[in-house]
Amino acid sequence: MKRYSDLQLYIGGEWRTGTETLPVLNPADESVIGRLPIATRADLDAALTAASEGFKVWSRTSPANRAEVILRATALMRERCEEIAQSITLEHGKPIGQARLEVIRGCEFFEWDAGECLRAYGRVIPSEQGISYIVLHQPIGAVAAFSPWNFPMSQPSRKVAGALAAGCSIILKAAEETPAGAIHIARAFHDAGLPAGVLNLVFGVPKDISDYLIPREPIRLVAFTGSTAVGKSLTGLAAQHMKPVLMELGGHAPVIVCDDVDPVEAAVTSVTRKARNAGQVCTSPTRFYVQKSIYEAFTRTFVERARTIRVGDGFDPSTQMGPLANHRRIEALEALVEDARARGARVLAGGDRLGNRGYFFPLTVLADLPDDSRAMREEPFGPLALINPVDSLEEAIEKANSLPFGLAAYAFTHSAQRVHCLTNGIEAGNLSINTLEASVAQTPFGGVKESGYGREGGAEGLTHYMVIKNVSHRMAI
Ligand code: NAD
Repeated sequence: MKRYSDLQLYIGGEWRTGTETLPVLNPADESVIGRLPIATRADLDAALTAASEGFKVWSRTSPANRAEVILRATALMRERCEEIAQSITLEHGKPIGQARLEVIRGCEFFEWDAGECLRAYGRVIPSEQGISYIVLHQPIGAVAAFSPWNFPMSQPSRKVAGALAAGCSIILKAAEETPAGAIHIARAFHDAGLPAGVLNLVFGVPKDISDYLIPREPIRLVAFTGSTAVGKSLTGLAAQHMKPVLMELGGHAPVIVCDDVDPVEAAVTSVTRKARNAGQVCTSPTRFYVQKSIYEAFTRTFVERARTIRVGDGFDPSTQMGPLANHRRIEALEALVEDARARGARVLAGGDRLGNRGYFFPLTVLADLPDDSRAMREEPFGPLALINPVDSLEEAIEKANSLPFGLAAYAFTHSAQRVHCLTNGIEAGNLSINTLEASVAQTPFGGVKESGYGREGGAEGLTHYMVIKNVSHRMAI
């Protein structure tokens, strides 16, 4: 019997329930697995007060003590990995092995930022005798953060890790469809002795909560991961109140496959990565631009492999790809495939929903799509691979850059000269060559163009949660 989490709000160091609730569904069978309390205005006001008080305490806590608490909580999350992973698979659908890896990845984000908070160095600017100029990095204040449903534990980890390591307090609104990962994070920090009010967790109608929290004191930073459309709207609201933002938004990752690599190996690697999280990843490899001489071999292997991907319940050990997380993804994918078909694209694998209970959709391969088809322009956020031939690297780079997105981009090549062209020519925050991994804890992750603003992880991640203060100090007056 799989155990799902108790669903509660966490405000001012206490767990709260509510009278109004939202159902949480298992996407594999559409059954209701829990009811999530909705935060009332009184809950949100309590969270704002708690975050204000929490900031006073936490910002004065030494970096070493902050790191200690973060690492203690992370050790608890590692101990509870199986329990957290089971909750994630129940509410999100992903295969249990991928859920376990997600928990470990979330822990790595915490561990990395805990280390970084010890290294948030300022600097001393050379000065004449009798005066010093010192630059300090100080925590920005309380953060309003919004995390999405595709990685229920590792997405909120990014935001909580950055805020807490920097010395900020945080009000996190995690995804209502997949609340358990964030609840487990709050539980671990509660058990690890985090002072009350430093971390607060709420749920509800997303727009109502963001509209209420963002303009108010003590919020000083808005951190969001989700679609470009919502990111723009939150950025607009934050701008009205002159509050900075950290925005991790949509992508439509190109993969350039050059003719100097083995097309079979490139295709096999690509299918495995495309199936991860059923393609519901902002960095998922999606637009494949393959040089003509290897186009047929690449596409043939890709299609053969795609057809072997076993779709099913995430708890079945033979499952390689779970259901989509919600019915909206099914509708979105069906519309993209239909549009591509109507424009003459070849549907080489998948293309239609599997069954009618649970949100199952096969790994779908479309080839020879016109550039103006919807799938080539809109982020599919699902198991859709689009394969098109190109004549040259230059053409591939031009097409890769042709969308307003710029999050992750990939290429397969052994040529140093081509890597040089890609490094200089690709418009994206993350470029990966001969690997489809776009980010790890120690590298900065984020987008350019409409894919967002700011970076999470790496040495850069904490800077967004901090403000720079210059102190000029004359020794005598
Ligand atoms: P959506 O844009 O409505 O929601 C995306 C996320 O933002 C959800 O978690 C939602 O709860 C939250 N959200 C929506 N409106 C909000 C608001 N006003 N204030 C605060 N949070 C708000 O779309 P969706 O159907 O849930 O997801 C589909 C799209 O979202 C995808 O096409 C993809 O572009 C994007 N998405 C991106 C990521 C990512 O990692 N960048 C993750 C999940 C979803």
